[in-house]
Amino acid sequence: MSIAQNLEHLLQEIPEEVKLVAVTKTHPPETILEAYHAGHRLMGENKAQELMRKQPLLPGDIQWHFIGHLQSNKVKYLAPFVAMIESVDSLKLLKEINKQGRKVERKIDCLLQFHIAEEDTKFGLNMDEARELLQSVVYKNASFVRIRGVMGMATFTEDKEQLRREFRQLKGFFDLLKKDFFENDDAFSEISMGMSGDYREAIEEGATLVRIGSLIFGERYY
Ligand SMILES: *Cc1c(COP(=O)(O)O)cnc(C)c1O
Repeated sequence: MSIAQNLEHLLQEIPEEVKLVAVTKTHPPETILEAYHAGHRLMGENKAQELMRKQPLLPGDIQWHFIGHLQSNKVKYLAPFVAMIESVDSLKLLKEINKQGRKVERKIDCLLQFHIAEEDTKFGLNMDEARELLQSVVYKNASFVRIRGVMGMATFTEDKEQLRREFRQLKGFFDLLKKDFFENDDAFSEISMGMSGDYREAIEEGATLVRIGSLIFGERYY
């Protein structure tokens, strides 16, 4: 099946209000253009170097979401164009995003990444760390950062009940933060969870953004 057909099938299945981030990592610009020509504009990459290399080769109206672990020293390369950084996992990173956003005069949309998986290999905040970040002076003065919601990656497992538990936990974190910090902020509205293997469960548990790579572009070759 073609990339256009894969996208069409997915979009038929995903509720209209859920946004699909097509994860393009490892794929060359020609492949990404197939999705673009099928009408898709929302793409995701997880490595700063790779995104920096590809972005100038592709149409300027692609909305790039950064979804991987981001080192502070790479923020300056993404700040001029990135549509959202989904993986804010430290105050240090948030501070740097604010600094670079100020330089290019862009208020940068961000998600707080939470650790929800059982594996300890995955990055992310816990609830205490998130509260600390949101109560900090650095965040209060971060006028070039707009926190739009939360992101998380579930454990890599076939166990659907475990996946649901982890997604429900992320939805719970979102609800708590909404209530305590963003009650009157309509922009705080996004829950990014679900990938090729678990997006159905994620949507049922409240995802507003799903990040799907292999179901659209096929296997990745590293
Ligand atoms: C690669 C990746 C995805 C997409 O994975 P697939 O299983 O190919 O759909 C989603 N989120 C993140 C953070 C990723 O790195």
